[in-house]
Amino acid sequence: MRKSEIRNPKSAIQVFIASGAGFCFGVKRAILMAEKAATEAGGEVYTLGPLIHNPQVVEKLHKQGVKLTGEIEGLPPGSVLILRSHGVGPSVYALAEKAGLKIIDATCPNVKKVQKLAVELRDKGYCLVILGEKHHPEIESIIETVNNEAHVVEGVKEAEGISCGKRIGLIAQTTQTLANLESLAAFLIKRVEELRVYNTLCDAVSQRQTASLDLAGKVDLMLVVGGYNSANTTRLARICHQAGCETHHVEVAAQIDPAWFRDKQKVGITAGASTPPWIIDEVREAVASL
Ligand code: SF4
Repeated sequence: MRKSEIRNPKSAIQVFIASGAGFCFGVKRAILMAEKAATEAGGEVYTLGPLIHNPQVVEKLHKQGVKLTGEIEGLPPGSVLILRSHGVGPSVYALAEKAGLKIIDATCPNVKKVQKLAVELRDKGYCLVILGEKHHPEIESIIETVNNEAHVVEGVKEAEGISCGKRIGLIAQTTQTLANLESLAAFLIKRVEELRVYNTLCDAVSQRQTASLDLAGKVDLMLVVGGYNSANTTRLARICHQAGCETHHVEVAAQIDPAWFRDKQKVGITAGASTPPWIIDEVREAVASL
């Protein structure tokens, strides 16, 4: 069993933490940039949309002076605008500059890379297919970057309906699973003369998925910790559930129901890339104290 086993001598439950659970480097980077801006900026500091998909972190940043805005219009000129790790399209940069805002670009370098590949494939004449969730901000940023010249599909079923030429360029939202990308590529290759696929999956996400799946196979119950609005956390919960392990997704320790742990001896905890360490600790302590 894993090294990170935590055992309370008074409790019958053993708790195991999946390796790599919690913040990824892109999220850590964005939070550090926001905290630095809150300390050093002379004026107002805003994030356009939640900086990351974790309400507790957004609330903490708000207390540090980082405000949340849904639109650029109306922000005082000279204010700082932090662009979140999911990235934005070109229109946002243009609007912010026009409004006289100071931009701090916290777009994750991995997302920037996907945006760049999307442009490259489109410019080389490939019919661009993106595996992802249409309304996720990362996908919206990529779509806008290529001027809407792409098909976004959530899997093979949706891909059946798209009309492309003989050359397809395939990329994926960073939080997708390799299995999804592989099955879509296998489907598309039969329909074209040339399929160019880039593995744009984020290693941080893939590692968390592998570690969570591994742990789910060894415990009686999995707790997946993180924002309900976090795509990668929700996917971790789905992966653990599909592995046949009883799984509960919680944002905070207070949502834990002691009844879940009746007759359970081994409990695994994993967390999405936007879940802070202090929330994982609180959940771990809550389970260990049962
Ligand atoms: S999950 Fe990956 S792509 Fe997303 S912010 Fe973290 S490091 Fe970047």
